[in-house]
Amino acid sequence: MTGIIDSHCHIDGEQFDEDRDEAVARARAAGVVAMLNVGTGDPHSDDFRRAVAVAEKYEGVYAAIGVHPHDAKLYDDAAEEHLVELARSEKVIAWGEIGLDYYYDHSPRDVQREVFRRQVRMARSLDLPIIIHSRDADDETVEILTEEFVTGQVEKEGRADRSVRGPGIMHCFGGTPEMAKALMEVGFLISFAGNVTFKKAENLRDAARVVPLDRLLIETDCPFLTPVPFRGKRNEPSFVIHTAKFLADFYGVDLETLADQTTTNFVELFRLNLAANYSKDTN
Ligand SMILES: [Zn+2]
Ligand SMILES: [Zn+2]
Repeated sequence: MTGIIDSHCHIDGEQFDEDRDEAVARARAAGVVAMLNVGTGDPHSDDFRRAVAVAEKYEGVYAAIGVHPHDAKLYDDAAEEHLVELARSEKVIAWGEIGLDYYYDHSPRDVQREVFRRQVRMARSLDLPIIIHSRDADDETVEILTEEFVTGQVEKEGRADRSVRGPGIMHCFGGTPEMAKALMEVGFLISFAGNVTFKKAENLRDAARVVPLDRLLIETDCPFLTPVPFRGKRNEPSFVIHTAKFLADFYGVDLETLADQTTTNFVELFRLNLAANYSKDTN
């Protein structure tokens, strides 16, 4: 196995203040060669700086920055400037998580939609893939992304030339098979978290059934959504292996095949060179 990737985690949070070094070390020992640490919080605070600092501290840890739909009401010019400044770090490889959350409705829906579109455009101007969060908003998420990436006239001038390979990742997939198909059509990779292992999550497995291995990613979304058999405990990146084993079984392939393919999907999306991380991790 060349390694496995946790495509979405939150290890900058206080839940890891006591043992962050150990959690990263445990992940490496488990074969996790890259982790995408997704910053969240108030864009006028130090929350995002902290997320980037964690990525800068550890080899194999990358960062995403962007304002979560919960906090959309806090997004303004100053917030955007702050994030664009942080995006200059080489460790920042994605913009997100952004999207719509109509389950909690922490920000008004019209504000969520507007801020979602605005961030999609900012990410594109920086040539950064986006990380999508969507809850109870399947149709509008698909509609906005299809408009922004397929049917709409989006200004492409002034794009940097990192030349990423796709629009991004639909994280912690929780929608219907139709939603997964529509987003793959736009070019997104579909990432499943530990909840796909839960007994009652037949709906998630129905969606996983339509996602081919070459569009698949896995994540922990830690500290949340701990997979079976650790359900109830704090989640951490090393546990991604349990979701990987579960999905390998589900797809009827061996763990190595699933790990290699999902690693390739991630590396190609971000045009990363993980060779350095592999060589350090294998001895
Ligand atoms: Zn999320
Ligand atoms: Zn998240």
